[in-house]
Amino acid sequence: MQVSAIIPAAGSGARMGGIKKPYMDLAGKPILAHTLTIFQQCPLVNSIVVVTAKDDEARCVQDVVTAYGIDKSLSIVAGGDTRQESVFNALRELSSNTDVVVIHDAVRPFVTEEMILQSIDNANQYGSAIVAVPVKDTIKESDDDGFVMKTLDRCRLWAIQTPQTFKYNLIMKAHLYARDNSIQATDDAFLIEQIGHKVKLIMGSYENIKITTPDDLVIAKAILESKL
Ligand code: C5P
Repeated sequence: MQVSAIIPAAGSGARMGGIKKPYMDLAGKPILAHTLTIFQQCPLVNSIVVVTAKDDEARCVQDVVTAYGIDKSLSIVAGGDTRQESVFNALRELSSNTDVVVIHDAVRPFVTEEMILQSIDNANQYGSAIVAVPVKDTIKESDDDGFVMKTLDRCRLWAIQTPQTFKYNLIMKAHLYARDNSIQATDDAFLIEQIGHKVKLIMGSYENIKITTPDDLVIAKAILESKL
């Protein structure tokens, strides 16, 4: 089985005050290096595609790939204006003999090997599997004026994380359909839903946070310390 991981790392860092999060330091190591090391060590992942902003390619190679010995078959692809475009650029780089694609945000350094393996196993079985956790808060939907429109049934709500893992032909079909029909999404599973294929949920972890805003870095440091 040929399994490729796509690691989108080409965000602009707008919500971190313009700082590129994958290259930020977390306990002496760039966040992207934490993430790539887990994929490097995962026995079922054969190759890795990192998506970076065009002007970050050299620093990705020098400060992360070379510095932390990421030597699994690795390629670097230029990102697009949106996460969806970045992932699509990477998908087009994959060899057509790829069986399974694991897509994982560069800025989720607490992914575990178990999550990756479980997502591959479930993608093999169902075509599509995404890691998620039950929401803890009550979630309400608002109207345009900032008033509550409705309260959603918490028992059925999940906060969606990555990895999101798919059979290669299915995720290619979904991205091509999205491009041809101008569908925009913040995750890949939504594109699978649009072509009418079921998406299997698998249990993630509340530690598998996406480092997005400065307060997430404080939490990330605390999570790391708790593991020492
Ligand atoms: O923007 P969001 O929080 O959804 O970003 C999730 C991941 O996608 C991050 O690792 C970010 O670097 C990446 N991304 C990307 N290309 C973009 C926007 C985001 O690779 N244009």
